[in-house]
Parts: sequence; structure tokens; C-alpha cells
Amino acid sequence: MSARILVVDDVEANVRLLQAKLEAEYYEVLTAPDGPTALALAAAEKPDIVLLDVMMPGMDGFAVCRRLKDDAETRHIPVVLLTALDGRADRVAGLEAGADDFLTKPIDDVLLFARVRSLTRLKSVIDELRDREASGRRMGVIAGVASRLGGTGGRILVVDDHERQAQRVCAELSIEHRPVSETTPENALIAARGPVDLIIVNAAAKAFDGLRFAAQIRSDEVTRSLPILAIVDFDDRTRLVKALEIGVNDVLPRPIDPQELAARVKTQIRRKRYTDYLRDNLDQSLELAVTDQLTGLHNRRYMESQLEALVRRAVVGGGDPVALLVIDIDHFKKVNDGFGHAVGDEVLREFAVRLASNVRAMDLPVRFGGEEFVVVMPETELEHAHRIAERIRLHVAGSPFRVMGGEELLTVTISIGVAASLRGDDAPAKLVRRADEAMYEAKARGRNRVIAKAA
Ligand code: GH3
Ligand code: MG
Ligand code: MG
Repeated sequence: MSARILVVDDVEANVRLLQAKLEAEYYEVLTAPDGPTALALAAAEKPDIVLLDVMMPGMDGFAVCRRLKDDAETRHIPVVLLTALDGRADRVAGLEAGADDFLTKPIDDVLLFARVRSLTRLKSVIDELRDREASGRRMGVIAGVASRLGGTGGRILVVDDHERQAQRVCAELSIEHRPVSETTPENALIAARGPVDLIIVNAAAKAFDGLRFAAQIRSDEVTRSLPILAIVDFDDRTRLVKALEIGVNDVLPRPIDPQELAARVKTQIRRKRYTDYLRDNLDQSLELAVTDQLTGLHNRRYMESQLEALVRRAVVGGGDPVALLVIDIDHFKKVNDGFGHAVGDEVLREFAVRLASNVRAMDLPVRFGGEEFVVVMPETELEHAHRIAERIRLHVAGSPFRVMGGEELLTVTISIGVAASLRGDDAPAKLVRRADEAMYEAKARGRNRVIAKAA
């Protein structure tokens, strides 16, 4: 998977060296010699990853990182800090500034590429969610903005057979989060299916293989998107790379530094909140995008997206035709005029219930707009659709609609036009038009009736 990487360093030789390494692996590289240039480039170009030198004159790497993470437009871009120092204080300061990781100079290529690959993969998941959310916004089905997402209160599952270490980790985390611990992978796999925001697994456990456990979490449908933080021995570079390769989100070196633990956990919890937020919005927007709010039936947009494929399959594939009912409530304006718009809405809702309970599971009842409805019936001959339409008509006209909490009983009738796709040559728009014409004929002939139109 390729990616666009922004390299920021005030020493030109460092920039060139990194650029050459990354380009040799087919990454696209942007470069900046200082903080302000980096911020401008990040905002304009939206790179996939920023590799950021810590020690720069003027604005240092920590400050640049904080600015990137404060801006909603660049917050989701992973930042890896590069430093000549391997000081603990620097690491913690960087993580607290919101950095996703640290690499020390001279840069170890294997670690660099393992990190870049892992961050690219994680970012592509977020990018896809962001894209879909953005299109939901354009369609007007998502409003509101993400409030600042906190990195505390996380439900954390610690998986470790080293009980003292697990206790220390839990004690440390319980200041800001709600940790629980499990000592065996079997129990942990069960616990992971409950409400969990982050899994911390000891990849150096004695009694089980922590990375195998991580892989199992990744392969289970229910748990696959849970963030995982793996604890790896500080100098076990092979395991660290392996951990990133199987898809853990972050790695914490052992011996564990409590502040580094807190900072890395906070980053993961914050990101989990952000992806949850995007996913929730998306579920809602998908639901909103295809559903009519008043009746709960599918809407016209959804029908059109389905009809295209159904008609093509019937016309080209040579199967049974697709039949279509266009249904319009008779003299509906009189209901509104006589009883008010709210009662009109009640009638529409009650009609939707009667309609939906009189079609087959494979049929698609749709509110086409206003007091007009459509039923799409896959694999249905015209005559059969005609009979179903007649049944619906009787079911509506046969018993009055109870409105205003039962105070009023209204007799409602409908006119239905029926058409079915033609073999050899037809299109969704033509099919809808034929059914529509049939419906108008039913109106003209006195309403409360069904007319089928063969061609
Ligand atoms: P016809 O038998 O010829 O179909 O007569 P009609 O009165 O049903 O048809 P017309 O198209 O003249 O009026 C439809 C009415 O439906 C007008 C509009 O205000 C009303 N309507 C459309 N959408 C809604 C809605 O969501 N709620 C309510 N209460 N009324 C609606
Ligand atoms: Mg009408
Ligand atoms: Mg009408």
C-alpha cells in the first residue's frame, strides 16, 4: 500500500536521506525544512503520514505536532517524531503532544518501514470512514460536528499472565480508565466480545503467545476493529516488527514506563472514540439515506438504486419480469383539508402498515413521495402483480382508518397502476412511466380501482 509522506527536518542531508529511502519503496514524499512550512503543506496536501524532526530552530517538532493535532482538518494524520535523543522525557513529551510514535536517529530502516506500513493501514480505515461521512454530509443526512473527543474513561482489557505486571498496569490505568485483566487468552477472547475500547496484550507472556492472541482478535468479526496495544521487550526488534505486521495498533516497550503507557493508551482511546463517532454517524446516515422518516418505508432514492439492477437482470438475464405498482391515495387533499395535516400523516402511516403487511418479503414497498407509493416486485408476472394489487386495494378500502386516537373513522381508497418489465428491451424509467399512466387511468375511470398496462 503506497502513501504520501511528509518529511520535516531542518537538516537538508537528513531530508534527502529519508526521501531516498522512502522513494525506493515507492512512497510519495513531500518535504519541508521547518515547522511553518510543514503546517502549510500538511493543511494543503493532506499527507498520509508526517515524519517530524523534534529539534528544529524556531518552532520545534513538539509544537508542530500539537498544532497538527489541534486542527480538526489534520488531526487524523499520524505523526512520527524523529529524534537524536532517546530520552524518556522526550518520548513522553512527544506522545503527550499527540505524536503516534517515536523513531530515534539514526533511523532503523526495518522499524521505519514496519511503522509506516502499519500507520498507513490504520489511516486507510479512518480515511474510508471520513470519506463516507463527508458524502453523508453533502447529501445532507449528517449534521453536527465531532465535539472534542476525550481520551479518558476507556474500557481496557489487559491480557497478561505476569500477574504483578498486570496489576501495575491496571493500577496505573485506573486513574483515568476502567481496566480489567485476564490471564488466559481463552477468557480474554470472551471478554473482548463485551464492551471494550482497547486491548493491551503482553507479547512477551510466558504461558501463551500474545501475538497469536492479537491475530485471533483481528480475525474475529466481532472484535476485529478493536485497537490493540502490544507490550514488547525493549530490544526484541523482531517481535516488535511482527506485532506491527499482524496489525496491532501500537507497541509499548518493556520495562514499562507508566507515563508512556498513559500517553499511548490515551492516543488509542481518542482514536477509537473518533472511529466510533464516524461509524455511528455512518450507520445513521445510511439508515436516513434509504428510509422515509414518516412511514419507515424505503424512499425513492433507495428504490431507484435497486430498480436499475433488478430491471437489467430481468430484461437481459431473461428471468421473470419485475412488476411495479404505482399507488396513489384518492382525494387525499380532502383528509388534510377536513382534519388537518397531522391526521393526513396518520393516514399515511396507517396506509404504510397495511401496504407492507400485504406484500411478500421479497417485494419492496416504497414511499415515492407525498401520498404516492410504489411496490417493486421482483420475478413477478403482470397478472400476478395485478392480483396482489387488487388484494391491497380491498385491504385499504375494506375497513376504515382509525385516526385521532380512535375518535374518527375515515374511509380511504386508493388507485393502483400495474406494469411489468418487457423482455428484450426496457428501462426502469419506462416501466415506472407505464405504471404511472395506468394509475392515472384508474383515477380517470372513477378511482378505487386497479388498472394493469401490458405495454
Ligand atoms: P387524487 O385522488 O386525484 O389523487 O386527489 P388528491 O387530493 O389525493 O391529490 P393531490 O395531488 O391534489 O393532493 C395530494 C395532497 O397530499 C396534497 C398534499 O398537501 C398532500 N400531502 C403530500 N405529502 C403529505 C404529507 O407528508 N403529509 C400530509 N398530511 N399530506 C401530504
Ligand atoms: Mg392522491
Ligand atoms: Mg397525487
